[in-house]
This record gives sequence, C-alpha cells and structure tokens, in this order.
Amino acid sequence: MSIITQLIHSIPVDPQTGAIAVPIYQTSTFVQDAPGVNKGYDYARSNNPTRETAEKIIAGLEGGAGASAFASGLAAIDAVIKLLKSGDEIIAVDDIYGGAFRLFDKVYKKFGITVNYVDTTDVSTIFHAITPATRLIWLETPTNPTLKISDIEAVAKLAKAHNILLCVDNTFASPILQQPLELGADLVVHSATKYLGGHSDLIAGVVISKTEQLAQEIKFYQNASGAVLSPFDSFLLIRGIETLPLRIRVHNDNAQRLAEFLEQHPLVDKVYYPGLKSHPGHELAKRQSKGFGGIISFTLKEDTTAAATTFVTSTKYFKLAESLGGIKSLVAHPAAMTHKSIPDEKRRAAGVSDSLIRLSVGLEETGDLLEDLRQAFDKLAVQQAAHAATASAASN
Ligand SMILES: *Cc1c(COP(=O)(O)O)cnc(C)c1O
Repeated sequence: MSIITQLIHSIPVDPQTGAIAVPIYQTSTFVQDAPGVNKGYDYARSNNPTRETAEKIIAGLEGGAGASAFASGLAAIDAVIKLLKSGDEIIAVDDIYGGAFRLFDKVYKKFGITVNYVDTTDVSTIFHAITPATRLIWLETPTNPTLKISDIEAVAKLAKAHNILLCVDNTFASPILQQPLELGADLVVHSATKYLGGHSDLIAGVVISKTEQLAQEIKFYQNASGAVLSPFDSFLLIRGIETLPLRIRVHNDNAQRLAEFLEQHPLVDKVYYPGLKSHPGHELAKRQSKGFGGIISFTLKEDTTAAATTFVTSTKYFKLAESLGGIKSLVAHPAAMTHKSIPDEKRRAAGVSDSLIRLSVGLEETGDLLEDLRQAFDKLAVQQAAHAATASAASN
C-alpha cells in the first residue's frame, strides 16, 4: 500500500455515528458508569478522543510505539527534557532552533541540566563531547537556516553504544521524507505548526517515541505538565496531515527548481539547499531521506542588511513572515528576524550572514514563484545601480 493510501485510511470512521470526518470532542470531562469505570476517557487533559486520533495517525507516520500532542512545538521539546534530571548533560546541534536554545539556556540550566553545542555533522565531534553525565543527544537535520545535514544512523549507533537517548527534531523534513526512528533514534519531535499542520493556521507540537515505555513516560509528562493540544486544534492537525504526502511532493519539486534558479543568478552568492550537488550534505541527505524539503536559504553578493531588506520587501507571492511549512510561500531575513537576539559575530560565524534570506517554498505554480524572485532581483539591481551612480557622483 502506498503511504498516501495508508495515511488516508489510518484516519478512522467514527464508530459511534459513522461520521467520515474525525469529530471534535469539545468536552472537559466524561460521564462514568461507576467510580473509575469509564469508556477509556475520564478527563480531557489526560485524554481526548480527537487528540488521541491525531496522536495515533502521527505515531503511524513516524513508525513509533506512541505519540503525544502538545499545544506547541516547544511544549513537545519541553516534555522530552523532562525525561532528564539535575546533573544530566545534553549534546545538541550547534545551530539549534532558537526557541529550543532559549528553553535550555534560560529555563533548564537553572535546574542543573547543561547543554554542550557541537557541530553534529561530524560524528567524531559528538563522540569527543560525550561524558559520563551525557543522557541525551539532540539533532535537527536539516538545520535552520543553513540546512546542515547530520547522519542520524551513525549518531544513533554512537548513542546506543553509550546508553544515551537520541532525539531528532524532524520538523524540517517531515515523516514523509525522513523517519528518524527507523534510523535508530529513540524520540522524534515536531513543531506540527509547520509541515504537519501545513496551512499556517495552528500552533502544535508532537513527541513520537520508539518504545512503549518512552511513550508512557512522555504521556505522563504531557498530563502532569498539561500543555495539551486542544480538540479543535487536533482536528485542524488531522485535516492538515491528510494531504501531507501530496503537499511535500510539491514543496520539494518547487524548491528544487527555485534552488537551481538561485544558484545561477548573478546577484546571489551562496545557496543552501540539500538538493543541490554543491551542498556539503547532499549525498547524506540523498541516503537518509526521500527528498530535500521546501526550505532554501541564500546569501547576496552584496552582503548587507540593506540589500536583503530590499529583496524581502519586493516579493509579491513570498510573504514576509516568520515560520515555514505552509501552503503560501514565505520569505524571511533571519539576521533581522529569527536570529536577531544572537550577537552579530556569533551569528555570522554560524553562517547566518547579514544578507542571508530564507524561503519557505509553498504550493503556488513554480513559474509564478520563479517570476516573483526574478522581479525582486530586478528591483534590487535597479537600487544597486542607483546607489552606484550616487556614490560615483559624490566622488567626482
Ligand atoms: C518552529 C520550530 C520549533 C518550535 O515550534 P513551535 O510550534 O513554534 O513552538 C521547534 N523546532 C523547529 C525546527 C522549528 O522550526
């Protein structure tokens, strides 16, 4: 059976009524026949049928024993860190999602959990960072925004040999392209706000566990801390996931075409896209995933904030916004947006130069998106020519 058929038919018909769409069980509690005797649900923080359906569908997609759905991607990450205790150490990918960095640095550090950030594209770097206190390795692959690729299978082997948990933030790839549990990871997290939801209309997160035991532990923290996904947002998430394989296919195809266009454009310096042969992670990405995703980053020959600002305010279909993974194309300028709080020198050293622009390529017609980029570059070229003329007039 193909993944799309399997996915569509993993969405159950309501046994109560035959409803073909998943009902929204908008209820806080469930009537019991006798104290402790119920139909599998007692209180909606602990369990809700709509949320449970979303969790089962996602567990199936990632090949996990179970999944827990949260009110945001960060709440999902938070639940995984609660598996640890004071004194434990984490080894994390160095260009980790900014919100995860803030959670580790500003919240968990004061509880005695420390994080060592390393370049995870090199497995030996991770090996040398392991100490007797290391309990968790945290990967993102591809990373944001330079799309670095780490070898999940190799890192999983290393983690296993040292009795360390491996968690992969699979937000950028989605389970359609990459299944970390199959490659040996113990846990997967998603910001379901992005590709899983897919329509830029909700904030959600998921943790998927390889084993029943880990799934139970995460479920315990989901209920104990309480940042659960609401019934309505669970419905929206299911509604989004129904078309995930189809959407990902178009995101991929569009992004590949756009990356190839960018690579040969005279105003562009570097293009970061794992689907390009020039990308250092290309061969590895080809091996461990079924496609290269919908996110592209690139820098301009004129590496200035001003040039990037002109570009990102000149596109018509690419809307200027944070976030990614929705049907509408988005453009972002990380130095002035998502990575603004990072000191300039540190940001540039991580490859996020002043002119770096990130595209979340949507589902519009490829030709329209190409034309949109072309006209934004034309505007930039006109502005650069005007500046050059002014500068030469001033020096005359
Ligand atoms: C957006 C994002 C998160 C955080 O998810 P929220 O739903 O915004 O809380 C975590 N990891 C990655 C890679 C993301 O892109």
